[in-house]
Amino acid sequence: MVKHDPFANATKQVNDACDVLKIKDKGIREYLAMPNKVLRVKIPVKMDNGKIRVFTGFRSQHNNDRGPYKGGIRYFDPEGGVQYMEREVMALSSWMTWKCAVVDVPLGGGKGAIFVNPKKDKLSEGELERLTRGFAYKIGEIIGPQKDIPAPDVYTTGKEMTQIMDTWSKMNGNKYSPGVITGKPIPMGGSLARNVATGLGTAYCVRGAAKILKINLKGAKVVLQGFGNASTFAGEYLEKMGAKCIGASDSKGSIIVPNGFKVSKLIEHKQKKGSVVGFPGSKKVSTEQLLTTKCEILIPGALENQIDAKLAKKLQCRIIGEAANGPTLPEADPIIYNKKIMVIPDILANSGGVCISYLEWVQNNMGYYWSFDEVAGKMEANIVRGLKDTHDISKKYKIDMRRAAMVLAVQRVMEAFEHKGIWP
Ligand code: GLU
Repeated sequence: MVKHDPFANATKQVNDACDVLKIKDKGIREYLAMPNKVLRVKIPVKMDNGKIRVFTGFRSQHNNDRGPYKGGIRYFDPEGGVQYMEREVMALSSWMTWKCAVVDVPLGGGKGAIFVNPKKDKLSEGELERLTRGFAYKIGEIIGPQKDIPAPDVYTTGKEMTQIMDTWSKMNGNKYSPGVITGKPIPMGGSLARNVATGLGTAYCVRGAAKILKINLKGAKVVLQGFGNASTFAGEYLEKMGAKCIGASDSKGSIIVPNGFKVSKLIEHKQKKGSVVGFPGSKKVSTEQLLTTKCEILIPGALENQIDAKLAKKLQCRIIGEAANGPTLPEADPIIYNKKIMVIPDILANSGGVCISYLEWVQNNMGYYWSFDEVAGKMEANIVRGLKDTHDISKKYKIDMRRAAMVLAVQRVMEAFEHKGIWP
């Protein structure tokens, strides 16, 4: 049985934003919360042993008032089973709508998933490719460069994106169609900076927040919870901006290095030893000790539901940059707000990925490719503006940054909806 319903949570966030914006009309609230379409597909795959295995996949298209649906495809097997996955995909597609709106990229929200765990299920490369192409074929009708543009997510990479692009192109008269999907490898029409996008975006957000709070980044202490793609790049870019990383964690444990460490050195150590634990000069601490260490910047970059009310009371940081999705429980938000810690909510702090996806799609559409610095510069402009607009709303309505980001996003979608209206 499922403990919580992610779509109910996403709906509550929409309603909370509507409260602030004084949108009382129930119909409009429902319009904003519900996905436009949820497609559930059966994907039969011939396995290597000759037997057929049937998989279930989803694509939820939440809102396209501001542009084509946009969002990743994940391969995952949540505890609650297929039914739970459907609710999760609906929620995630809703968050994509708000994520794109908050940084003002002209795209809507979508999300897809296949109920499979490629690692646990030990699928061979061939089986995985047949599954991916089978799914692409089944959702082929509803995706397209001007309709719905998927991207990588949990357990999917550039490899799957290439297979989806190739399948879709072949279904559509063999037309070269790189813009049907983003997160592609560079030779397939991918964008520079896409691989570092999430972490780089988080670092830009933190720099913007530090400026607002008048915190000098030079020597500012950073704690990185989780040492995966998002947080390592966030750490590396913050380091380049002058900050000093002093704590990190992975699934094997957490460490504090009082004198600080170079992110590249810790990556090397993890590659050799399989964990951040045991890094020279470090002391092993509990997750709680790591998160509540005195520092300027805390980057929760791994798991959901890490900061609860109890932990929030003990936080000693000044900025939280949520590189992960949903690391803070709703009960912790008012406590963090009262402590005057600035939270850069996930839909803003980890929007670097979708920002660069947008720029990849633009480059695909025009057939001309930008340099790393051009792409990163354009992404920074979107993100910093999103942060500033969110901060302005948080001051105007005296609400925390998470709510403010939702208010900003809902306001932007409403503006588009008011222009377009309903037809047919
Ligand atoms: N899966 C990423 C996200 O949730 C990227 C989505 C995209 O690039 O479209 O933000």
